[in-house]
Amino acid sequence: MPPPADGLDPADWAEFSALAHRMLDDMIGYLRDARDRPVWQPMPAELRAELRTPLPHAGEGAAAAYADFTRLVVPYATGNTHPGFMGWVHGGGTAVGMMAELLAGALNANLGGRDHAPIEVERQVLRWAAEMLGFPLDASGLLVTGTSIANMIGVLVARTHALGPAVRRTGLQGAPLVAYAAGSVHGCIPRAMEMCGLGLDALHMVPTDAEGRMALPALAAAIAADRAEGRAPFLVVGTAGTVDIGAIDDLAAIAAIARREGIWFHADGAFGALAMLAPALRGKLAGIEQADSVAFDFHKWAQVPYDAGCILVRHAGAQAATFASEAAYLRRETRGLAAGTLWPCDLGPDLSRGFRALKVWLTLKAYGADRIGAVVQESCDLANRLAARVEAEPELERLAPVPLNIVCFRYRAPGLDGAALDELNREIVADLHEMGLAAPSTTVLGGRLAIRAALVNHRITDADTNAMLDGVLARGRARTGRNAPAGGA
Ligand SMILES: *Cc1c(COP(=O)(O)O)cnc(C)c1O
Repeated sequence: MPPPADGLDPADWAEFSALAHRMLDDMIGYLRDARDRPVWQPMPAELRAELRTPLPHAGEGAAAAYADFTRLVVPYATGNTHPGFMGWVHGGGTAVGMMAELLAGALNANLGGRDHAPIEVERQVLRWAAEMLGFPLDASGLLVTGTSIANMIGVLVARTHALGPAVRRTGLQGAPLVAYAAGSVHGCIPRAMEMCGLGLDALHMVPTDAEGRMALPALAAAIAADRAEGRAPFLVVGTAGTVDIGAIDDLAAIAAIARREGIWFHADGAFGALAMLAPALRGKLAGIEQADSVAFDFHKWAQVPYDAGCILVRHAGAQAATFASEAAYLRRETRGLAAGTLWPCDLGPDLSRGFRALKVWLTLKAYGADRIGAVVQESCDLANRLAARVEAEPELERLAPVPLNIVCFRYRAPGLDGAALDELNREIVADLHEMGLAAPSTTVLGGRLAIRAALVNHRITDADTNAMLDGVLARGRARTGRNAPAGGA
């Protein structure tokens, strides 16, 4: 079939418009009625098989393709739009964010470079991010897929800062660089060390204190020991909100040590950095504004739809010194579309880049930073009330402090301990998932399996955390053959 004169555009725009409006109404309903669905349900094998069919050579048309989306995909999505979703650290998305994806899709802008408004939108978002964190407004930065890649960019900039731009030509040449992070650091930091060619062994894990924060005397001792043995400390990573319990390293003290030692301080604030928008929480992050670089996500606590991460680098020039390179086909002009000196492609690994800035920009403009801050505060208040109920239930045990929005606990049963208790709690969590009731996740704390409820989604209420806890108690009792205590829940 020869293509029509206007390429892939609809032959009948009115017909397309009717379909598009139906898609829009369906998805508005999807968000409006989020709590009427199961949180999650497993995908039936026969439907999964339909997603393993070969490349379609003849198109079936947009309406038929959309029908398959509705049937095969929508009911079996992750579930993080649902207020019962409390696993890992997932944002809930918003109606405005959803529309932003549509608007960005229509413009189909490439934000690798050149001179156009979408790049100015990204720059404004980055200045807002700097303002949020107390960074200088001329800090450089980039929106990226997530904190994993933002952290990797931070590690690379720190490496180039330590060894000078010549390292880009020569490679490490055995430079004995070492970095530091607390044992509670997110797994993407060790992975960044691997991917940057620095090697996992060059990341020295610092023990944590009783609150899950980096033990600072141990950090200072590790740096001194490494120097004595001829190694070159170049980077310390502090975390604002650890992934397991939400602990916040003493960022001001880390900044002071880094300054004294002349090493780069990178802060991983994946979700915790957003606490800067909540006045009562901001103090916990004191020192983040002194970091040399900071990575965080808009797709977690800021509720921007996936994916939207951010890297900010304090020292103008350090990021470009790590990534910028010249290519004839990317030549910069003084006027026209190819104008501009520094393009986003000079600040990170990607050349072609989508307009993910738009959904951040529209979210911040539509709701305002204070409203996002109120969501962050409410998540923490909910977590405190959940923790109080965990403590009040004799069958439950809290397993970690609750500095922010994460509550780690477990069901306990007389006569069960060690591996049996771990297994019981693992089964309880899987039961809740399969019932579609709630979706907490698990972690391991001090060798014990914990049920972990991370309250991130802006739709979560006390009714949702109570339903989750009631579910844990009910499944715990069912699995251990216990009755509910008289007069109890
Ligand atoms: C989620 C998270 C990451 C990874 O971020 P992605 O956006 O998933 O790549 C890194 N560090 C911490 C502390 C996190 O919570």
